[in-house]
Amino acid sequence: MKSGSKTKIELAERLKKLPPYLFAEIDRVKREVMRSGKDVIDLGVGDPDLPTPPHIVEALHKAALDPANQKYALDLGMPILREAIAEWYFRRFKVRLDPSCEVLPLIGSKEGIGHIPFAFVNPGDVVLVPDPGYPVYRATTILAGGEPYNMPLIEGNGFLPDLGKIPAEILRRAKLLFVNYPNNPTAAVCDGEFFRSVVDFARRHGIIVCHDAAYTELAYDGYIAPSFLETDGAGEVGIEFHSLSKTYSMTGWRIGFAVGRAEVLAGLGKVKSNLDSGIFQAIQIAGVAALRGPQDFLREYSATYQRRRDLLVEGLKKIGWNVSKPRATFYVWSHVPEGFSSEAMARALLLKAGIVATPGNGLGPSGEGYIRMALTVGEERIMEAVDRIGKLDLC
Ligand SMILES: *Cc1c(COP(=O)(O)O)cnc(C)c1O
Repeated sequence: MKSGSKTKIELAERLKKLPPYLFAEIDRVKREVMRSGKDVIDLGVGDPDLPTPPHIVEALHKAALDPANQKYALDLGMPILREAIAEWYFRRFKVRLDPSCEVLPLIGSKEGIGHIPFAFVNPGDVVLVPDPGYPVYRATTILAGGEPYNMPLIEGNGFLPDLGKIPAEILRRAKLLFVNYPNNPTAAVCDGEFFRSVVDFARRHGIIVCHDAAYTELAYDGYIAPSFLETDGAGEVGIEFHSLSKTYSMTGWRIGFAVGRAEVLAGLGKVKSNLDSGIFQAIQIAGVAALRGPQDFLREYSATYQRRRDLLVEGLKKIGWNVSKPRATFYVWSHVPEGFSSEAMARALLLKAGIVATPGNGLGPSGEGYIRMALTVGEERIMEAVDRIGKLDLC
């Protein structure tokens, strides 16, 4: 490119307001450590190492060969995918959905979560977000001109938000509420009683509930995660986001969906139809294969994560860490050893032991004192990680 008189490139104010994307920064340091020749065990980003099952990949291959699938997709999803989602939902949760208006396919659930405030949030409106939490809730609120309000997730309260503690002034301006169980990053689960209180709260204050259910299918020790929509009245106050990413090991494919209150989905759909042109149809057809096909491998995948969880948690306990076994998600949310901040611990793990972990404070101020480790590497690597942590001189 010719250099010469360059005009100044100035970012929009909304972008300047965003905190740096946590994983980009960790990735930068990780690359540095790798360049120095160190072997790195990455327990950072929650991206399954288990492969997408072959029958789903084959469905994509076959569908990609058909020219009919190579055109722009219908922007709000193929009817066959909407029907497969509604069927899966009924089989799994006994919740009945109208595929024509209560189901909305997404280009991954992050896409839908990222776009929902653009449909409902005006400048000055508040969005209630869990702290710590998935960073997208906060970022998209800021991009849409809204104000995120942190709801602390505290261990003493089972990592559930205390909705009764939110000030009246905030509630008056609150438009959306994000909740997420099984939870990333705390790995906490909730019961129907909590969802019941969320429905009452949302009704009382006229708030739209967005439940992020990305991890309902990764559960251990016989735990079965509920859907928010199983709760009476939930379908009137909000929607639930789901994803094929974690359930079917399809993170790179970009396919998820939202279900629930039709008017809320219509608002999100209106934003989407102005911004994207749908999910590649071959991927939609592969998504149908995932939802309608054999589900038995899911049990096997969960068992694999559960063995890793046991190795990591029992290993860390043995060397004196304060950590307990999660009943769902593929994260272990551990206290950092005394005398460390989250960030100092993450830095020590990476620079001294070659282990990438996510500092809890990076996911919200209430995450301080914790560190998140993803169970997305094999058993040998987990044992190696525990071994290296045990040998760390933490003084
Ligand atoms: C992984 C994740 C998602 C996003 O998944 P997609 O790949 O965009 O479908 C959403 N919410 C939480 C809490 C996640 O951890």
